[in-house]
Amino acid sequence: MLDSRQQQALSAMFGAAVAFDVSTADFCTLKAGGRAAAFIEISDLDQLSALLGFCRKEGVCRRVIGRGSNILVTDAGFSGVLVRLAGEFRTVRQRDEPDSIVITAGSGCLLAELLGYCRRHGLGGLEFLVGIPGGVGGAVRMNAGAFGHWLGELLERVVIVGPDGEAQEKMRGEWSCGYRRFTIDGCDLDSVIILSADFELQKNDPVLIQQTLEKYRSLRREKQPPALPSAGSFFKNPAGDFAGRLIEAGGLKGFRVGGAMVSPIHANFIINTGTATATDIINLMHRIQEKVEAETGIFLEPEVHII
Ligand SMILES: Cc1cc2nc3c(=O)[nH]c(=O)nc-3n(C[C@H](O)[C@H](O)[C@H](O)COP(=O)(O)OP(=O)(O)OC[C@H]3O[C@@H](n4cnc5c(N)ncnc54)[C@H](O)[C@@H]3O)c2cc1C
Repeated sequence: MLDSRQQQALSAMFGAAVAFDVSTADFCTLKAGGRAAAFIEISDLDQLSALLGFCRKEGVCRRVIGRGSNILVTDAGFSGVLVRLAGEFRTVRQRDEPDSIVITAGSGCLLAELLGYCRRHGLGGLEFLVGIPGGVGGAVRMNAGAFGHWLGELLERVVIVGPDGEAQEKMRGEWSCGYRRFTIDGCDLDSVIILSADFELQKNDPVLIQQTLEKYRSLRREKQPPALPSAGSFFKNPAGDFAGRLIEAGGLKGFRVGGAMVSPIHANFIINTGTATATDIINLMHRIQEKVEAETGIFLEPEVHII
């Protein structure tokens, strides 16, 4: 927790961009979660350096979040500072190479904004991300993917800041990524902040890009529950199978713990029916894991980051 001196120091540094004792339900798509001691929207590198310096000096923990679409804070709360990148971290820049075009997207940029930019400028490749409600930094961290593609396929470079506050660039070959996994050797990604990401894209006709976006959008509509609060697929698919199939086979569609329910439409979605606490969601997660493991021997690993 932050004491009043620390709160005053943060207020002096960040003014209206800092809020104290916030409900994390307001920052995540599950619309549930404990309280965080502080939440700060950071607009530029100077502010970020100042915050990281403060956290180091004061021994305060901090965690960067994006759009909160794959995260849940337990009801015990988060005793440090939640950070969201905005301002200059929300821009998209473009560089033309002989055979391709490289765009640099700030981590605070929404995937929807990035896809809008690509469509307007006739840049194809990232369309499979349509409908994923995250930001660029969160999507890199999760190696977000859909329809047989993932972000890492097009990722060329990331700029990161480690706990020491130094920005460094990492090129393809210096990270490894797989199914919902992005790792950089020697880095604890929970304490690393991804500032921006470069993607190598191809010129394409904006009309064709729009058609591809529409195709993926309608496939999504067919499979996903309507807009009830969720974090998308809650569990990773085990090798060679689908978490949703295993949960459905366990008779758990519609199963509830408090206000949390297994979606009757897509069994791998845990939805907040309106009153779910983080504890309800976590208890439901455990009930699902126990039942599926007892019946199949498979332990379902959550995709959602629980902090
Ligand atoms: C309706 C729905 C559908 C979804 N469909 C899909 C899908 O098809 N495919 C898919 O892959 N995912 C899907 N998701 C999950 C989610 O949208 C993605 O994982 C998304 O990429 C998370 O981005 P975010 O900005 O919301 O990250 P958050 O949820 O805010 O954070 C996720 C993790 O990334 C870390 N993080 C965030 N920003 C940064 C940063 N700048 N630097 C370092 N770490 C960071 C956080 O600390 C956390 O550990 C879906 C979610 C919903 C609600």
